[in-house]
Amino acid sequence: MAQESRGPAEGDVPTTADASQASGTAKVSRGERMRTYLRLDRLDDVLEMLWAEGPQVRLLAGGTDLLVHGALQDAIVLDISRIDELRGMHQADERWLRIGACTTHAEIGSSRLISRLAHLLGQACRSVGSMQIRNLGTIGGNLANASPAADSVPALACLGAEVELASTNGRRRLPVLDFTTGPGQTVLRPDELVEAVWIPPQAGRRVGFFAKTGQRRGVCCSKVSVAFWARRMGDGSLWDVRIALGAVAPTVMRAREAENLLEGRRLVPGLIQQAAEACSAATSPISDIRSTADYRRKAAGAMLARGLFALHDDIESWLKRKKRRRRR
Ligand SMILES: Cc1cc2nc3c(=O)[nH]c(=O)nc-3n(C[C@H](O)[C@H](O)[C@H](O)COP(=O)(O)OP(=O)(O)OC[C@H]3O[C@@H](n4cnc5c(N)ncnc54)[C@H](O)[C@@H]3O)c2cc1C
Repeated sequence: MAQESRGPAEGDVPTTADASQASGTAKVSRGERMRTYLRLDRLDDVLEMLWAEGPQVRLLAGGTDLLVHGALQDAIVLDISRIDELRGMHQADERWLRIGACTTHAEIGSSRLISRLAHLLGQACRSVGSMQIRNLGTIGGNLANASPAADSVPALACLGAEVELASTNGRRRLPVLDFTTGPGQTVLRPDELVEAVWIPPQAGRRVGFFAKTGQRRGVCCSKVSVAFWARRMGDGSLWDVRIALGAVAPTVMRAREAENLLEGRRLVPGLIQQAAEACSAATSPISDIRSTADYRRKAAGAMLARGLFALHDDIESWLKRKKRRRRR
């Protein structure tokens, strides 16, 4: 069932909830007026609407980016936050976990399924904004907003995630790093939306970390973020090493040279330093209101090194425990 409105009386700033019941032209931010607010409950209806009105439609999931930055002048704001097909997480089969695009950071961060099979993503989602932002902000919105600082994306890149796009013409899936083409730019066509994110389950001896730095500890966007993921073998060596960096290039990027240095090796201090230097060298950051290019470049390497030193200590004590157990 669709709910449509023309927004509240002039001067009021409607919330997502009250905009559906009010009348008048909705004033949403900085004096802009959205033409129409519409909430649809069925995915097929949304896809029809995108097919018919695509360029004018602004999808609203949690609204934590759209209502802050969105150009809503004369837009049809289409609320997709209550569509069942876009919500929730489950293991579809042995090869894939499915997360609906409108699943919130809070839901992902507290999910047992995610903590068991994709805990790096849970860690990244728990670092987003504040509790209020995590309760509203969605993984689909984080992707579609296409910020190089989006915190879920480095984790998704390390986990080998794919993004599923839907339109009336069907579905297509692509690797998460192919979805974003630049700051605020994606491969989404006007008639498409992000339907889901697919992640290969990561059971077994996986090790990893997500780290971010910002103006302060909470409620801030990343100046730099680093995600690391690898398979730990019985001898402590690391395989399938993946390192993804946020906010140090126009899009989230992999640090391939650093990955190659670590591939198949056991962590030792000299190697960690080399990987950190390769990581810094791979970045192409800009200076903006959040930070300088120089800081970002150095921080990327330093954050990787800090995470790897902690991992080194964990692996070494795990190996010692293993050895002791064998002697008994
Ligand atoms: C105070 C504050 C702190 C924040 N802190 C962080 C942080 O620490 N880390 C971080 O990564 N982000 C942060 N953000 C940004 C924001 O919360 C996230 O990017 C969030 O995931 C956006 O999701 P949303 O559902 O609110 O998106 P919305 O605002 O609803 O939408 C964002 C964009 O994506 C489009 N869109 C939404 N869903 C879909 C879909 N399914 N298909 C296609 N297009 C879609 C919308 O049309 C819009 O263009 C913060 C924001 C605020 C206001």
